[in-house]
Amino acid sequence: MAEIKSDVLAKLRLAIGKEASQATQQDWYHAAALTLRDRIVHRWLTADKESYDAGRKRVYYLSLEFLIGRLFTDALNNMGLMKVFEIALGDLGVGLMDLRKCEPDAALGNGGLGRLAACFMESMSTLQIPAIGYGIRYDFGLFRQVIVDGWQHEYPDVWLSFGNPWEFQRPEVVYHVHFGGGVEHVDDKGRARAVWHPGETVQAVAYDTPIVGWRGQHVNALRLWSARSPDPLKLDVFNSGDYLGASAEEARAEAICKFLYPNDESPAGRELRLRQEYFFVSASLQDLVKRHLGSDGQLRSLSQKAAVQLNDTHPSLAVAELMRILVDLHNFRWDEAWKVTVATLSYTNHTLLPEALETWPVELFERLLPRHLEIIYRINAQHLALAEQRAPGDIDYRASVSLIDEKSGRRVRMGQLAFVGSHRINGVSAMHSDLMKETVFHDLNHLYSGRITNKTNGITFRRWLMLANPKLTSLLQEACGDAIVDDPTLLSSLESYIADSGFHQKFRAVKHHNKVQLARLIGERMNVRLDPGALFDVQIKRIHEYKRQLLNILEAVALYQDMKDNPQADWVPRVKIFAGKAAASYRYAKLIIKLINDVAEVVNNDPAIGGKLKVVFMADYNVSLAEAIIPAADLSEQISTAGMEASGTGNMKLALNGALTIGTLDGANIEIRDNVGADNIAIFGMEAGDVMLRRQQGLDATDIIRRSPRLARAIDAIASGLFSPDEPGRFEPIAHALRHLDHYMVSADFDSYYEAQRGIDARWQTVPAWTRASILNVARMAWFSSDRTIREYADDIWNVPVGPVAAAPAHAQRA
Ligand SMILES: *Cc1c(COP(=O)(O)O)cnc(C)c1O
Repeated sequence: MAEIKSDVLAKLRLAIGKEASQATQQDWYHAAALTLRDRIVHRWLTADKESYDAGRKRVYYLSLEFLIGRLFTDALNNMGLMKVFEIALGDLGVGLMDLRKCEPDAALGNGGLGRLAACFMESMSTLQIPAIGYGIRYDFGLFRQVIVDGWQHEYPDVWLSFGNPWEFQRPEVVYHVHFGGGVEHVDDKGRARAVWHPGETVQAVAYDTPIVGWRGQHVNALRLWSARSPDPLKLDVFNSGDYLGASAEEARAEAICKFLYPNDESPAGRELRLRQEYFFVSASLQDLVKRHLGSDGQLRSLSQKAAVQLNDTHPSLAVAELMRILVDLHNFRWDEAWKVTVATLSYTNHTLLPEALETWPVELFERLLPRHLEIIYRINAQHLALAEQRAPGDIDYRASVSLIDEKSGRRVRMGQLAFVGSHRINGVSAMHSDLMKETVFHDLNHLYSGRITNKTNGITFRRWLMLANPKLTSLLQEACGDAIVDDPTLLSSLESYIADSGFHQKFRAVKHHNKVQLARLIGERMNVRLDPGALFDVQIKRIHEYKRQLLNILEAVALYQDMKDNPQADWVPRVKIFAGKAAASYRYAKLIIKLINDVAEVVNNDPAIGGKLKVVFMADYNVSLAEAIIPAADLSEQISTAGMEASGTGNMKLALNGALTIGTLDGANIEIRDNVGADNIAIFGMEAGDVMLRRQQGLDATDIIRRSPRLARAIDAIASGLFSPDEPGRFEPIAHALRHLDHYMVSADFDSYYEAQRGIDARWQTVPAWTRASILNVARMAWFSSDRTIREYADDIWNVPVGPVAAAPAHAQRA
């Protein structure tokens, strides 16, 4: 304790250059973070040395996104230093939780896919798997969302403006990444060899962030690449007076790591994006190949020492790049190189939408990566030969599995490339993996059977239970024993309290406390007063048509109208809480945000409903906001159009914190139902098969609306300008889609959803029944720990050993 105090003061003087009396909260935060980092670094270096000495296989997790959020309390908690730091800092007159707020969220990701990568990094450290996460160090992460007049505005996310105490720049770890130019084919002692003469070179510089596992036993690096030009300033051009031209190359190089592409489930399709993808794939593969050569001296054994996981199609170029490294640079014979490549790589698919699988125009490829295109053609030739063997003369089959889409102007298909070049392809929930075999990868699965496997996503309980919900964690420890923090399956013993009214009371008190906190935050930020006794109904996630925030707000409109019809009825007080960002170019999603805010404006200020319904849209959804909302949720909205959400992880976070789910049979909702029991979740709506059928039959919803007066009235209200008197036609496009283009089945599922919501109301009114279901959700969510997921990857895909759940607690070690 005394040591931490003096270390923080020393950092303040020596690293920040300030006296305690002059220090700002920012300064204290940096001093505290650096003090903590020192302690992590010792573990890091030891862990690294041990895994090198033991010659252990390493996992390389390639992801264009890591949605990390804040690291300070995460690292404190995992190092077991939360209490001592709190006391030490308290003695210095600073509050730990105030310092926590000084840390900007590292928002190097859009949503679930990026957050999954962050949870996986933490679990790999916890399970003591030597691993490196590879990605891009974006200067600007996901945009900051500001709501003005109900509309979303985007501002740059300047997360690095105060510096980043967690990262280590590695100026000595630099690789050259090439683009453009041409390929020469030479005869090298009787063997044909390709020599790429690139037209442009960019440098990749490494920045390492230590990711510490639970109980601080192991630390892995997140290695993010920053781009710069090898020739930052052309002095002759500068001297001739062309100051901008002199640094044009630098600007072109730096553009690669300037910003994260906002995603709306449709690929970015821009040249800069392809440059980003190749940049980080090339630097990462060069880095891991160099490491392997350093220890093994040759690359034949690469797959015995390296498992490379491709998070979605963004790093698919790894297939061609690894082949190029082996064949062109290390003189491998093609077939040998192919064996090594397939044995080393594996690919996680995140979407079933064929249009969401990345493709790139062949011409762009040829211009940017001419040698890679040649390699892809050759891979395709051998792959199509296999297809021909399997289905002789079947041209449609060949076209369907080909790496080149010939129909839409010749494009390279990145999903197919990743599939063919990987020994395992996984989906992220049971349903998603099954549908993968039936839909997007049906024919490839036929050709390479046995490669597709399922790895249902998970979340790290350290962040999403312990850190986010300390009150619940304490109660669970009290009830089930301290060991739940090491082994969440022990939460099942909570079931013995299921009829214990004393426990019910404590459990409800925790939820109430969390709701008071959230109500206070909302009061401060948006000047809306909430009743913590109301049902907190939460939908927080990216704004997208398939996630159906529209269905939720439509139900709010219908409920509002029903309340006005009958204000004396025994309505359950509800607060509908929304948060989420829409991609800047996704106009329809931004209109949905405006609709939510316009409905909020009317509903929240209508005295006729006596405050029984409130609608709140919280701005700038990110990991930290999720941590504030989730512990306070009573109801979790997981209402995607069936067949469209690959897994979801928000659903897991909320159920773990005691929220009941209202949801469709989609993604991991199905497995949540299987775990918590059908009585403790509210399932409604069409199933994936129904959705496919209905889409074939047509998307007009006129008949559906005619049969549902409540739905008709809600749509009419939106269409007539009831919520937008300043611009009555504002929501006409939404009304039109609901009536005639119901691709996402919002109208089709409305009645079923409305009814399920009234079922929720009824259950809420029977307090013991609600509490019981809530407790059972917490008790039965252990399987969704990302430790379980990572253990499955380690066994089935990576073939690496796993350490203990968590090392023995500190006191046991001392004994
Ligand atoms: C968990 C999480 C997500 C994913 O939420 P879904 O409901 O699964 O789409 C997105 N963003 C943030 C900040 C998260 O923490």
